[in-house]
Amino acid sequence: MALRVSALFAACLALALACATHAASQDFELPLFIPAITSIPLSLDSDGDGLPDVWELRGYVENGVFVNLPAMGANPRRKDLFVWMDYMVENEGQPGETSFAPSQTVIDNIKAVFANAAATNPDGTAGIVIHPVLKNKVPYKANLGVAGDDASVWTDFDALKNASFDKSYVRSYRYMIWANDYQSSGSSGLARNIPATDFIVSLGTFNPSGGTDWEKLGTFIHELGHCLGLRHGGPNDTNYKPNYLSIMNYTFQFSGLHKDGHFGEAGYPLRYDYQRMATPTLDENNLNEPAGLTGAADISAYGTQFYYYSNAQCIKVAISGAASPIDWNRDNRYTTGVQFVIRCDAGETTPQPEAPEVLATQNDWAHINYNAGGLLGPSMTKSQRQSRLAAPIPESLKHEMTYEMYQKIRNAPSAP
Ligand SMILES: [Zn+2]
Repeated sequence: MALRVSALFAACLALALACATHAASQDFELPLFIPAITSIPLSLDSDGDGLPDVWELRGYVENGVFVNLPAMGANPRRKDLFVWMDYMVENEGQPGETSFAPSQTVIDNIKAVFANAAATNPDGTAGIVIHPVLKNKVPYKANLGVAGDDASVWTDFDALKNASFDKSYVRSYRYMIWANDYQSSGSSGLARNIPATDFIVSLGTFNPSGGTDWEKLGTFIHELGHCLGLRHGGPNDTNYKPNYLSIMNYTFQFSGLHKDGHFGEAGYPLRYDYQRMATPTLDENNLNEPAGLTGAADISAYGTQFYYYSNAQCIKVAISGAASPIDWNRDNRYTTGVQFVIRCDAGETTPQPEAPEVLATQNDWAHINYNAGGLLGPSMTKSQRQSRLAAPIPESLKHEMTYEMYQKIRNAPSAP
């Protein structure tokens, strides 16, 4: 592909030079088609990644600074996604020093997950090229923001961002910090909105502090997923849907999906995936147990997991084959027309029973918001940007998973 683009570019350049030389020597007017070749409309985004073709081919100027996207690996015929990553170090140079920066393994696994995306490109390749660029160490803060004041998280975040991030990149790069904690919440991470360009991974209160490589990978993919427009239930905020086979579902954020008999954390980074196919809608007032999760795409390689409420607890049920019949209500029979709620907030200390819902999901990769609702790309004005960045945190993002919730989910009592 690189060859085809550069060959095309060289051909255009040669043609332009030849005509220009010709015009200069013989005083001809330039043929009318030359401007058509040399000026690519800003609106053209062949690969649909939110970055105009002309930016990906030639770079662009923002606030007087040249942003050389092609030199950073951008390609107008292949989806590119740029993330500027900063990090904190706790107790630097002292006993107990902890860097929250991701290992090269984590970075490589992030790239692998996106390279494996269920997305196609004009150049005939599949996948997305993510560029997670590890940049600067920012000053350590035990917490971004204070409890009870959500906006203070982003005030602190912006202070660090403004001192580190190259502002000329604002229309092409997402920005994140590998941090310790925010608002003393113990939460694993936070996105600024759905969609957004800014996010935090904050595993400082995990064990080990900073999290394992798998916890880092899962949380990065999860919070970036919110920035890409994904919710805890895919198209909506309903969490723990057993038919939502995505890292956006709390059931799978840290373990990864279950496929071919293994969870991701058993050594399979590609299981830290957004849902990559359709699954059937499940109506908790009318479940078809013999069908399992069949009826949409082939999910025979996948397992799933669900929780149901019983005696003030969430009971966990592991399903090794999602295409096999599933006894949702645990009555040892496979029947149709079953009424049963197959979700429970397993991270809660005192879970409440949920009302039945119709559980629809989506192929996440087909619903990626590549331009962060306009924050990326050429169109947003400064005042539009400021008002978007000042918007309050959505309710669904206020209780991202803590280490305690993670342990509760993992150790929930299993169904007999
Ligand atoms: Zn989330």
